[in-house]
Amino acid sequence: MTPVPPRRPAPRLLLCLLALGAFLLGVGEPRLTAQGGGPAWLAPYRETVTRLTRAATADDFAWQRLAELTDTYGSRLSGSENYARAAAWAVETMRKDGLEAHTEEVLVPRWERGFESAEIVDPPRHAIVVAGLGGTVPTPAGGLEADVLVVETFEELRARAAEARGRIVLFNAPFVNYTETVSYRTSGARAAALYGASAVLVRSVGPMGLRTVHTGTVNYVPDATAIPAAAISAEDANRIARLTARGRRVRIRLVLENQPLPDVPSVNVVGELRGREHPEQVVLLGGHLDSWDAGTGASDDAVGCIVTWEALRLMRRLGLQPRRTVRVVLWANEENGLRGGVAYAAAHAAEAKDHVFALESDSGVFWPATLGFSGSNAARLQVRDIVSLLAPLGFGEPIIGGGGADIGPIAQAGNAPTMAYIGDAAKFFPIHHTPADTVDRIAPEDVSRAAAAIAALSWVIAEMPERFAR
Ligand SMILES: [Zn+2]
Repeated sequence: MTPVPPRRPAPRLLLCLLALGAFLLGVGEPRLTAQGGGPAWLAPYRETVTRLTRAATADDFAWQRLAELTDTYGSRLSGSENYARAAAWAVETMRKDGLEAHTEEVLVPRWERGFESAEIVDPPRHAIVVAGLGGTVPTPAGGLEADVLVVETFEELRARAAEARGRIVLFNAPFVNYTETVSYRTSGARAAALYGASAVLVRSVGPMGLRTVHTGTVNYVPDATAIPAAAISAEDANRIARLTARGRRVRIRLVLENQPLPDVPSVNVVGELRGREHPEQVVLLGGHLDSWDAGTGASDDAVGCIVTWEALRLMRRLGLQPRRTVRVVLWANEENGLRGGVAYAAAHAAEAKDHVFALESDSGVFWPATLGFSGSNAARLQVRDIVSLLAPLGFGEPIIGGGGADIGPIAQAGNAPTMAYIGDAAKFFPIHHTPADTVDRIAPEDVSRAAAAIAALSWVIAEMPERFAR
């Protein structure tokens, strides 16, 4: 069967005239076929897509593999022994799947949590649920004790700058969405340090949970002293805010005993199915294998690793060898350095232009999931067509904007279109970077559906006779 090539981009004026003509005639683009709907050029891929999605959704294989990874190796902080063991297991298991697999070296920062505690000492003692932010400096030996200054925004801190000196600043910013609210976690320490605060506490970045605490990185900058930084549960933050609003002094004792450690060697795990016709052209998939140390990093991001890897395993199992190489990278150090993505882009700089398409799954796979896409208009039209094949799985048109932190550097270097698999944020963010991020919360059907969608998409893009549009 010879697949029909996708339409070539026509000159813009011609496209406009065609669109105008279609509009005047009251018809859409002539995209529908008689059978099954969707554009005609996809007809040659339908059967294989159906086989892949059937194989993906026939059982809970991918969920079982996710459970094996997270149960056996637990959390996978950058540079930890857990990470090294999980990476070794992944390479060995990829080879058992019949994939070509190897590791590529990455030097990663090392930060390890030590003993930590926080309590209100005045008014009467009350333990606070606390988690040091990743990369935080420790408190002085024996901990520190100070009165708390509660603010909701950076502006409020600036307005009350005179009150910050020597105190513990608590940013009690209500969760709006991750992108907005996370700035208090990443930049709160710097802002508080500029006004002489002794430490910073951040209300956990996530919706109200069950007194859940969310860790994540804190960024220090050369222009401000690095002060100890930790997250506390929303309930504890609210309580402290209510007390201070009533004019009560709140004094907190904070202990963070982690130690700074030097960088250590680690790896990206790379598995692939070599292309039969254009092995040098790469359809890149992946998730990050590292995680925070609170839960077992099941949704962030073991599941992203498993569903992208599963796409290759399914192709191999069905005896499919795509025209182009399909490569999965399980990235190192997304959470606290992004060294895996940067190292890959450096090591593969000469082949950056051969990266045809890159997809990352790093937002969980909770249903309803969406696909986000970033690329040219021509690429967007192609991807919209391809995604129409996923309608039976429940996917709508891709939304505008999608990529991933790890695929960013190589995609940018090679000007490759990027896609994100985006799980339901309402289910992802309550557990994000918390002890509750375990496999128990993930439905096997959601894992299978993600694997099916990614396998189908990457198959078509790797198999199209003409290269996917840039
Ligand atoms: Zn992640």
